[in-house]
Amino acid sequence: MAGPEQHGDSGHRRRVVLFSLPFHGHLNPMLKLAALLHARGLGVTVLHTCFNAPDPARHPELAFVPIHETLPDEATSPDSDILRKLLALNAACEAPFRAALASLLRGGRRDVACAVVDGQCYAAMAAAGELGVPALALRTDSAASFRNMLAWPRLRDAGYVPIKEEQLDEPVPGLEPLRVRDLIRVDGRDTDEHCSFVASVAGAVRASVSGIVINTFEAIEAAELAKIQRELSLPAFAVGPLHLLLGRTPPEEQSLHEPDRGCLAWLDARPPRSVLYVSLGSLARVDRGAFEVMAWGLAGSGVPFLWVVRPGSVAGGAAAAGDEAPPLPDRFEDEVRDRGKIVKWAPQREVLAHAAIAAFWTHCGWNSTLESICEGVPMLVQPCFADQMVTARYVTHEWGVGLEVGEEVVERGMVAKAVREAMAGDGGARMRERAHRLQMQASAAATSRPWTV
Ligand code: UDP
Repeated sequence: MAGPEQHGDSGHRRRVVLFSLPFHGHLNPMLKLAALLHARGLGVTVLHTCFNAPDPARHPELAFVPIHETLPDEATSPDSDILRKLLALNAACEAPFRAALASLLRGGRRDVACAVVDGQCYAAMAAAGELGVPALALRTDSAASFRNMLAWPRLRDAGYVPIKEEQLDEPVPGLEPLRVRDLIRVDGRDTDEHCSFVASVAGAVRASVSGIVINTFEAIEAAELAKIQRELSLPAFAVGPLHLLLGRTPPEEQSLHEPDRGCLAWLDARPPRSVLYVSLGSLARVDRGAFEVMAWGLAGSGVPFLWVVRPGSVAGGAAAAGDEAPPLPDRFEDEVRDRGKIVKWAPQREVLAHAAIAAFWTHCGWNSTLESICEGVPMLVQPCFADQMVTARYVTHEWGVGLEVGEEVVERGMVAKAVREAMAGDGGARMRERAHRLQMQASAAATSRPWTV
């Protein structure tokens, strides 16, 4: 049974029901879309998991209904990879989502016009379809990454997946500019489970939704959007960059961690375009060796940096779980004392908008990539898993606004060299120019949307 609605409007309008998986990078775009739909005059009900639940007080205009799921450990544990989490969340949310939606439909919410559900949640897409609610899938990754998922059966039949070491540098026909090494992967593997997850998503999209809503904009992905429409015979709407559509001042963001705002004052004291911002997002984990190479690469570069070292972001060791940030290498802090600032979580959008930021060392999560593009900040890319591989390739080879840190972060000298090139080299200057152009295009996309707030 759905619980009582919290906050929200009284329900005299046509209503959209939204549901997102409880990941930071999915919930925030979904809540932004919810706010935009509300601003366009629709009633909005957000169905949500109790795990990582959004805070209704931050969105008084929306109605919130928890689905009361029971999650197994693997859905939430920092030790389970993203695929395990996605499979477990889909399984655990299916029945409670269906019950919550059915209860809304029965309990006076006859005004429900459609549902917008997380494009990775095949269980919710199917449930909405079965209950006769027209559904749209919201993709919080890029159109290119979604095309990669849709192409999976073809790639399997053509022998590109499972990925083979000797094919890593081969281009993938029909998915240019991707090479085999850029295909979506989970922890370097693409197992049967991964194939079946991708097939379930593609199957649910084909069977249960009336259209795809993607947090992207035409200037960077027009070709991919057109191909998706052709391949699915469904409309694909570019609705992004969602965070820009709500205006320049970030509304209260749903944040998994308390942002350390002290880093903004630290940036204030730095010259324009002098600092490298380093963050691998909310989920990625690197092993201890790669973490140390990052640290010593930053130290060796001589460049001022702001580094988000998130609790749980380094695999293994006592600090792999819990609220403690992983320990830094011995003597590292002494070495970088005058030019390095380390925080557990940053107010990222404000950081990227700060004049002191020159470049962003990123894992290429789609939100981080869009946020960087929208601020005209060039990138150093270090993709870790899933769609990050695809996005990193587009950043470096399609849009020309990023450099690779190195195929893998294996050697501190290479890291230091890449950092210096992005910050002060000719390559960095060219990237900065292109990044500025993309920033203008993103801003034009946002202001041209009829629903900009
Ligand atoms: N983020 C943040 N502070 C941090 C690190 C990340 O606010 O210190 C936000 C960032 O602005 C982005 C989101 O977390 O909106 C990360 O989403 P993304 O899609 O980039 O990566 P994911 O976390 O899903 O891997």
